[in-house]
Amino acid sequence: MTAPARTRTSADLIRAEEPVLAHNYHPLPVVVARAEGAWVEDVEGRRYLDMLAGYSALNFGHRHPALIEAAHRQLDQLTLTSRAFHNDKLAQFAESLAELTGQDMVLPMNTGAEAVESGIKVARKWAYEVKGVPADRATIVVADGNFHGRTTTIVSFSTDESARTGFGPFTPGFRIVPYNDLAALEAAVDETTAAVLIEPIQGEAGVLIPDDGYLAGIRELTRRAGCLFIADEIQSGLGRTGRTLAVEHEAVVPDMVLLGKALGGGIVPVSAVVARREVLGVLRPGEHGSTFGGNPLAAAVGSAVVELLGTGEFQRRAAELGVTLREGLAALEGKGVRGFRARGLWAGVDVDPAIGTGREISERLMREGILVKDTHGSTIRLAPPLTITDGELRSALGTLEKVLTEGA
Ligand SMILES: *Cc1c(COP(=O)(O)O)cnc(C)c1O
Repeated sequence: MTAPARTRTSADLIRAEEPVLAHNYHPLPVVVARAEGAWVEDVEGRRYLDMLAGYSALNFGHRHPALIEAAHRQLDQLTLTSRAFHNDKLAQFAESLAELTGQDMVLPMNTGAEAVESGIKVARKWAYEVKGVPADRATIVVADGNFHGRTTTIVSFSTDESARTGFGPFTPGFRIVPYNDLAALEAAVDETTAAVLIEPIQGEAGVLIPDDGYLAGIRELTRRAGCLFIADEIQSGLGRTGRTLAVEHEAVVPDMVLLGKALGGGIVPVSAVVARREVLGVLRPGEHGSTFGGNPLAAAVGSAVVELLGTGEFQRRAAELGVTLREGLAALEGKGVRGFRARGLWAGVDVDPAIGTGREISERLMREGILVKDTHGSTIRLAPPLTITDGELRSALGTLEKVLTEGA
């Protein structure tokens, strides 16, 4: 007989998952039961500082009071209509998100991968209807090392073998060029190119920040070539880097921006394609959709997220605390840190492989009450909630120093 859930320990729960849950993840052995702000608590009541923040889905921390209140209020009114009918929350969400991002129109979806898929469809349709690319010939140029999600079309242009192997046949129509290489990008763009699809900072690849001028260069070259610039800001956007969008660091306005993760406030999945009217305007009734996209609960939470970002407070915090993060990591260089890349409250830290793999370092940090996630090899990613305090951040850096200098 199965024991009642409340009597099951973390170890019980981890063991219970094994036979019934698909093994597509390898989580750290921590079972979270409660959370608030930057802190989570496990089944046994141990507390951890969350330095991953749901891969930036929790930019405002766990259960931000304004977001929880918006969700509660909406739960008591209306949760789903489908887009067969209008709902009274969607106009406000679309208006405020378009204004926040400096774009004209919004296509609401749910997950990040759906936003990317939708962006690809819109770009192709734009290429055929507006640019005049011959039918089924449109290409989209993407970067090596990209991460845009997990659907079959998206893994078709991944360069990560573990994301692709066994999942073919793949969707054609993509060209892969090295990241941070404008000349290669320029060489790959031709009259069939619908769009260049790029992460302004490559998160999963290890928080890779391109050289200054790369994003402005893409803007310039896509304008000249008459193709779209699509920025996947699903992880880099919504305050993480110290700006609302990471492209703002180069004062660039793409033709289309893909948002997700933090847009749902860590409460519900909310994603969106935001674009100029000439671009998103190519979609007509029946050509694209989603049962849950734009539902009133998502719209209410999304509007509350946009409202929080409208204050500028979170962008400011990310920029200011980003200085603490950068200085703290710089002080660890040579003390177990081989190198790091940081912008705002976001860093990829390359640990000396002699000290351990990213996974081993993450496990040691977990035992010290800090939750992080490795990316590749000996790189760990730091992305705390933007609500973290300076003291909490310094304490996490102190713990990192301890773990790196004490060794295994
Ligand atoms: C997470 C992520 C996605 C996919 O989002 P899901 O909600 O997991 O489908 C796409 N692009 C980037 C840059 C991401 O970080």
